[in-house]
Amino acid sequence: MIEKIVIANRGEIALRILRACKEMGIKTVAVHSDVDHDLMHVRQADETVCIGPAASARSYLNIPAIISAAEVTDAMAIHPGYGFLSENADFAERVENSGFIFIGPRADTIRKMGDKVSAIEAMKAAGVPCVPGSDGPLNDDGTRSLRLARQIGYPVIIKAAGGGGGRGMRVVHTEASLLNAITMTRSEAAAAFGNDMVYMEKYLENPRHVEFQVLADTQGNAIYLGERDCSMQRRHQKVVEEAPAPGITEEERVRIGERCAEACRQIGYRGAGTFEFLYENGEFFFIEMNTRVQVEHPVTELVTGVDIVKEQIRIAAGEPLAYRQQDIVLRGHAVECRINAEDPKSFMPSPGDISSLHVPGGPGVRVDTHIYAGYRVPPHYDSMIGKLITHGETRESALARMRTALDEMVVEGIRTNIPLHREILRDSAFMAGGANIHYLEEKLGL
Ligand code: ADP
Repeated sequence: MIEKIVIANRGEIALRILRACKEMGIKTVAVHSDVDHDLMHVRQADETVCIGPAASARSYLNIPAIISAAEVTDAMAIHPGYGFLSENADFAERVENSGFIFIGPRADTIRKMGDKVSAIEAMKAAGVPCVPGSDGPLNDDGTRSLRLARQIGYPVIIKAAGGGGGRGMRVVHTEASLLNAITMTRSEAAAAFGNDMVYMEKYLENPRHVEFQVLADTQGNAIYLGERDCSMQRRHQKVVEEAPAPGITEEERVRIGERCAEACRQIGYRGAGTFEFLYENGEFFFIEMNTRVQVEHPVTELVTGVDIVKEQIRIAAGEPLAYRQQDIVLRGHAVECRINAEDPKSFMPSPGDISSLHVPGGPGVRVDTHIYAGYRVPPHYDSMIGKLITHGETRESALARMRTALDEMVVEGIRTNIPLHREILRDSAFMAGGANIHYLEEKLGL
């Protein structure tokens, strides 16, 4: 078993990983920037190492500093969490070349899935349904691109193979603007991602975002833990997530889930992962794979009873999956609200001192947060300060619990998006279930 883990992250996910380690009897090393010494997990870790100044580039993204922290503390493994270095193949490679276990997939898997063209290729080979598109990169032959777009049918979307975070994409509605859009996306991609490869997909106009959680071990076993609906988004950022996805039938869940698990076996996937799909008119279209734990993993944990972070650690230690597919039974419904330190109307970040805090509780309520009364939210990082998650026997009861929890929660001293969540949870289209990815922005008048 792994005896000591470096937690290469901050905030709520670092605390989540620390809790899993403690329960498993694993020692922890918290690496942190110099403004983060008062983080909750830093206070609780067995050892702490300051890895640099506030700027992420010099601390949480500082590969040599993190690897030396593992060396000086004699740790065995590094958990990257989400964001930061979690999907950086070079980091995974350097961690393993330095003799540590990277808690995640092999570096070459991260690299393959990080390139959307090669990810789609691998998924097609495994029978995962993909968006109709160019089947590979676009070349300089404009006539070919025009022909492809005509075959696919407008609107189409030009996407950067190396894109991420909702950047490097351009929707094209007419033939007249296609070639210019390809040139523009290509030069933006070269500047932003150092890779000018672009490809073309059919642009789906009103899809939902439905994603499947998978776990795969090093013995070749892979299972899926059902799906989540993350269609409530603003600027491609998820705001509310739930599991299971409203209206998805057991037949669809099994059919797509099996394809995802099969894809894991084919590519020799290791660890936890997520297959993201756009879902429209009863059809699933793969868009990308995330090779790490997701922010929204708790909703899946609440409906399956599987501790995804512990499974990540067990898999990294070389243990076989603790579950077979038939052990995974979905129970009830779970919903998650991401709590951000931001103005609920303007969405401007609102860092600062938390003067008082009251956290909700009761049956079926889970709060994953690192904040406490007296904590100062620094201005240097992502504005998410925690997640409120509720579970109920039905979707209605999970939503009712969330409304109660949101009404109970008090965060003073900074502004948060809790008022926005209270509104969403009382919105009739959200309550009906199955709203598409544009719904929230339309509701907000954006
Ligand atoms: P990123 O890695 O930047 O998040 P994705 O490929 O996951 O990129 O796409 C991000 C978002 O862009 C999707 O959630 C969806 O809203 C939109 N999008 C991407 N591809 C398509 C498509 N073919 N049709 C419609 N919308 C798309």
